[in-house]
Amino acid sequence: MTHELLEILKTRTAIFDGGMGSMLIARGLGPGENPETWNLEKPDAVAEVQHLYYEAGSDVVHTNSFGGSPVKLADRGLADQAERINRRAAEITKTVCPAGKLVAGDMGPTGKFLKPLGDLDPRDAEDSYRRQAEALLAGGADLISIETMYSLEETLAAVRGAKSLGAVFVIASLTYNRTKNGFFTMMGDGVATAVKALEDSGADAMGSNCSLGSADMVELTSAIRAATRSPILIQPNAGKPLAVDDAVVYRQTAAEFAADGIRIRAAGADMIGGCCGTTPEFIRELARAVR
Ligand SMILES: [Zn+2]
Repeated sequence: MTHELLEILKTRTAIFDGGMGSMLIARGLGPGENPETWNLEKPDAVAEVQHLYYEAGSDVVHTNSFGGSPVKLADRGLADQAERINRRAAEITKTVCPAGKLVAGDMGPTGKFLKPLGDLDPRDAEDSYRRQAEALLAGGADLISIETMYSLEETLAAVRGAKSLGAVFVIASLTYNRTKNGFFTMMGDGVATAVKALEDSGADAMGSNCSLGSADMVELTSAIRAATRSPILIQPNAGKPLAVDDAVVYRQTAAEFAADGIRIRAAGADMIGGCCGTTPEFIRELARAVR
């Protein structure tokens, strides 16, 4: 049976959601507070943000579980809550997901480096991601979206962990930096190397998010498209981050973002959303421009 996301892609460009963190901060999430614990303590605030994204035109919205890998939660003294936090994350998004639209179980970096660079055993990383994906799927996630990954090795562990659960649709998005020699992850892997490894590991779709603004993402999309026939997800930030009075701000307008969305689609993206600095307004403009 074809996955529902692929059914959507037969007819249109799929629109994903935008930034989550800044939306929760606007609703009172304090500095240093763990966003994932809001799944247990303030589920209505999480649901409200996700509802705004579906209403703005998102076909797929991520769960509030980006930092919810058991390894990362253990660092914050929440090891025993990992299963509950992730299951609740998916249940919350499911309650506001309209018929015909989808919930993506969000998985981000553990925050640790794999051996030999750091002390996290790749098998422990894989096991942590498997547990997170299992809880997200138990809560009703329709697919798993691994994002903002700076290490290809850790991403492969996440894909393997999710795929070990059976017929799970998995998207893997890396974060690339732009150099004069092309696009590379923080760990130094280029686009062609990363795409090949992700395909070999069984990822169903791949792409990039964060770090770059929408203009740079146009070129990166072309580079990814040149390396694969798989569906591509691109989620740019709202322009380049600017430091203003110790805070990071994004100055791109929703209209500029949406105009680049058209170019990103033309460069080969099948799915487009937003990352840091983007809001439901950005997604509304993007959806309008792309459709
Ligand atoms: Zn971001």
